[in-house]
Amino acid sequence: MERIRIGILGYGNLGRGVELAISQQADMELVGVFTRRDPASVKVQTEGVPVRPASELDEGADDIDVLVLCGGSATDLPEQTPRYAAKYTVVDSFDTHANIPEHFAAVDKVATIGGTIAIISCGWDPGMFSLNRLYGTCVLPQGTDYTFWGRGVSQGHSDAIRRIDGVADAKQYTIPVEAALEAVRSGANPELATRQKHTRECWVVLEEGADAAAVEEQIVTMPNYFADYDTTVHFVSQEELDRDHAGIPHGGFVLRSGETGDGNPALIEYSLKLGSNPGFTGNVLVAFARAAHRLSVEGQSGARTVFDIAPAYLSSHSGDYLREHLL
Ligand code: NDP
Repeated sequence: MERIRIGILGYGNLGRGVELAISQQADMELVGVFTRRDPASVKVQTEGVPVRPASELDEGADDIDVLVLCGGSATDLPEQTPRYAAKYTVVDSFDTHANIPEHFAAVDKVATIGGTIAIISCGWDPGMFSLNRLYGTCVLPQGTDYTFWGRGVSQGHSDAIRRIDGVADAKQYTIPVEAALEAVRSGANPELATRQKHTRECWVVLEEGADAAAVEEQIVTMPNYFADYDTTVHFVSQEELDRDHAGIPHGGFVLRSGETGDGNPALIEYSLKLGSNPGFTGNVLVAFARAAHRLSVEGQSGARTVFDIAPAYLSSHSGDYLREHLL
């Protein structure tokens, strides 16, 4: 079998997740991890995979079928995806929801000119959750959408706490309110305010001499991040934080509650419980990398999102196999 040759650009949590996801795909091989840092300073998990300078991509690396972009959404991907889509078939996990239309337009422009395929915003949200929201609204046009996140670590909220004076380290968990989930599952179609859907739990390590009460007050009143939620703050030692909160778990629920034309209720629920957010996101990116390669081989070009990809394109199996075993 001819394998799809994958390159990874950016070796953080997600880059590591993609690397290990590729190792589970018989039809793919990882030909290089590209980084903006000194390649000698980056150690990968897979023996024999070279770490290469990102500058090699600008010169033109001709041994790559799909480049999986693993940079951050805040500043890396808005620059990297259009830049590399000009030359390579790419997938990214851009997750700043409000800016997706703008990102799509920028990437579509260069990919169309370059004759490449770029699938943006793959992952779980955006990604698998988006697909389930779309299926829900199509199948139950009369209904209400609900998305709950957690229990899981929010990197953005953890970072916001770490920026407070007196904080040495922190982890923040987003937790769905069980009563709200149950109300949705009951078919009651409740209207839920922000505070009614999620709570926030913070595990904070203080710097020596820091005022715990002042830090807690700053956290719970922080606009946008915590002020609209019921937030609990726990102070722990660095050792406890490292021991009990080392992972990056996440997950959540997408529900569509509505009724069919005959007046009967219907509820759709999709849920994820992820031991590792970047690990799972990496797996999703890799499946969409396969689809991107197929579209590219067909001669298609331009930007796509998860909505535009036929499900069978994600699979390594043939149409015959899928019809026989999964339909
Ligand atoms: P990281 O901060 O771990 O990595 C981002 C980039 O920072 C890397 O690509 C890497 O680039 C650089 N970097 C990583 N480690 C170091 C280091 N020690 N020193 C200097 N630079 C470093 O982010 P994540 O991998 O956790 O997340 C990437 C993005 O994935 C997030 O911004 C998020 O938007 C997205 N995401 C999307 C999801 C979805 O469902 N759609 C779900 C989860 C995440 P380089 O090697 O070039 O230096």
